[in-house]
Amino acid sequence: MRHSKWVIKDCGLSEETLLKNEAVFSTVNGYLGIRGNFEEGYGQQKTIRGAYINGFYETDAISYDEKLYGFPTSKQTIVNIHDFQTVMLKLDDEIFNMNSGNVISFERLIDMQNGVCRRCIEWESPKGRKVKIDITRMASLAVKELFVIDYRVTPINFAADLCFVSLCSADVVNYADGDDPRINSCGDKCLALTEAFFDDGIAYMESQTKHSRLRVGSSICHAMTAPAEVEYALDGQVAQVTLKATAKQGEQIRLVKIVHCLDSQSQNNLKEALLLLARQNSARIDALYQMQSAYLKSRWAIANIDIESGDGADESLRYCIYQLICHGAHNAKSIAAKGLTGEGYAGHYFWDTEIFIQPFFTLTDPQAAKKLIQFRYHGLDAAKQNAAQLGHAKGAAFPWRTIAGSECSSFFPAGAAQYHINADIVYALIQYCQITADEELMMNEGAEIIFETARLWMDTGHFKDGAFRIDGVTGPDEYTCMINNNYYTNLLAKHNLKWAVCLYEKMAARGECAVINKIGLESTEVDGFRQAYKNMFLPSENELGITPQDDSFLQKKKWDFDCMPLDERPLLLYRHPMMLYRYQICKQADVMLAYYLFQKEHDTELMKRSYAYYEKITTYDSSLSACVFSIMAARLGMEAKAYEQFFATIRLDMDDCHQNTKDGLHMANLGGAYLCVLGGFAGLIIDETGASLAPVLPKCWRAYRFQFMYNQSVFEVKVSETGTLITRTKGAPQIISLYGETQQY
Ligand code: BGC
Repeated sequence: MRHSKWVIKDCGLSEETLLKNEAVFSTVNGYLGIRGNFEEGYGQQKTIRGAYINGFYETDAISYDEKLYGFPTSKQTIVNIHDFQTVMLKLDDEIFNMNSGNVISFERLIDMQNGVCRRCIEWESPKGRKVKIDITRMASLAVKELFVIDYRVTPINFAADLCFVSLCSADVVNYADGDDPRINSCGDKCLALTEAFFDDGIAYMESQTKHSRLRVGSSICHAMTAPAEVEYALDGQVAQVTLKATAKQGEQIRLVKIVHCLDSQSQNNLKEALLLLARQNSARIDALYQMQSAYLKSRWAIANIDIESGDGADESLRYCIYQLICHGAHNAKSIAAKGLTGEGYAGHYFWDTEIFIQPFFTLTDPQAAKKLIQFRYHGLDAAKQNAAQLGHAKGAAFPWRTIAGSECSSFFPAGAAQYHINADIVYALIQYCQITADEELMMNEGAEIIFETARLWMDTGHFKDGAFRIDGVTGPDEYTCMINNNYYTNLLAKHNLKWAVCLYEKMAARGECAVINKIGLESTEVDGFRQAYKNMFLPSENELGITPQDDSFLQKKKWDFDCMPLDERPLLLYRHPMMLYRYQICKQADVMLAYYLFQKEHDTELMKRSYAYYEKITTYDSSLSACVFSIMAARLGMEAKAYEQFFATIRLDMDDCHQNTKDGLHMANLGGAYLCVLGGFAGLIIDETGASLAPVLPKCWRAYRFQFMYNQSVFEVKVSETGTLITRTKGAPQIISLYGETQQY
């Protein structure tokens, strides 16, 4: 890929590149996500054609041959909605397709300032007609339902009858891959068409899912510059609009396809809303482009990171941030592991959101972060039911993976057993409150989440010899399952319980007892929380001088990394899980993540020794790993390693390092890319004691600059060879510590 500061480019046409780029060039606005498919398709080559609405799902029974008590019974899958991407171009009797004729030039780009994807082609047809085609796509950041395909054609050496055939199809299936557990194994057709018609030039289509009974509607209309003869046809599940014009040599013809999509979770009367939107917006597309740029301008004003270097870090990182911004724009739910860019992990939300993605929003767009927290709050009842299903008398167990709130993980050892998600949600919530000073949220929704998850820990762990132990859970590392006293889990549970106690005391002292009364929290229960956090068992430094990942990890056999074929990655596709569980081998950062979240509680030399140990036995099979190793390396003074892992992070999707970007962008990794700079190189830590920075400058960078919000003020930090400069750009002065020196900025 060749990039410039605000533009990401690619001109690859191989099958692998095309599939990867369908995800990389997705246009997303947080509500809608449309993969970067070619309007005309690829001919014979494989494609994963898809468009999605955040949180729009189908349910189905999970089939187990050995279903044990309490296993989840139904799954949720994000639905591939109507396919409205097709626009075929005919030049007299020839149909444009990049697989035929001669592609004279081709380039695809994302313009990150204007929020559009473009495909620019010069093509010579088999009969020698040369044409320039320029297609711009936009998922509107101003109108959540709107997606635009802006198609411009200029005949270079001919005049012809030109014809566009534009389709909207309800005949869609979900993508499936039976060999990869990270993808659904059957490609269901989730939608049944319920209504389709044309009304005054607008094609309308509505479908319903079979089991979840959710409805989705799409309206499609067109605007064309040259006088057009238009025909409308409905053929089964496909609405077809044919637009004809006479093209003169050298004269551009522009067709704008205006698509609106809406689902019944957002609005009941889809038809009325979508027809109205089509009428309102079709006449103001150029204004909507301006609104797109304006939205991004205001978001970049705070979210941009500038890196002065010649290594390409600047634009690769900006792409990661760009996708985060887009996913946050109209998000009213959560952000799936693959966002709205593919069907990997069935479109489920995981802990990825809270630990890796939410911090970006907390620091740059607190309103968006708040929505993520509220989504979890709305899932609290389902989490309580889940806890009951798991056998707990009290408390809330948030699902390991879900769309609608209930647990969808059918393989519990590397799924539902990851109880740490409860403390992860609490960690991110507390971070949000510490960074934004949102007392209101903390004392209401926040408190309820914190108390209910604290109850879960009490019912999961137990006291033995005075210590509170948590047995039989799985930590972040999914190659080590169902173990006792996972260091990460216990440390986060301790934090969860400690905050429950502090909040209770604060509320009781202020007489603000609404939440306490609502959930019937007794002071004796809080005494239990106190006992548990004060006596939380944490596997302590062993004879190697490192932190054990759990009670048994360091007793296990060592994996022979030298004999591991390099092409057998990720190992989960090549080894039985039980084989992996018996060895000292990590899929991802576990202890390192605990250090990152609670660095101040750990001795530097201990962290360095542990880094050296775990770095070698981590396969990085999870995309959630490299960023954590980068952050910790930066904080521990291992600048070269930090830089290397940072590059692995920012290039992960663009270089398809995990060879599955086709299934969607790795959203946690994108969030991790942002954190590599703020949390890693700049060493930003915000906790109950305040905000602190300890920046380092990678050797080959001249400078970097970013902004962050803290206590409703905005600070710009510039790190260069001459030192670190902190400037307040908005709001009241705040105390910040720089390399341990506390000062008001
Ligand atoms: C990782 C999990 C992660 C999930 C979704 C898995 O490969 O091990 O930690 O939550 O992917 O991104």
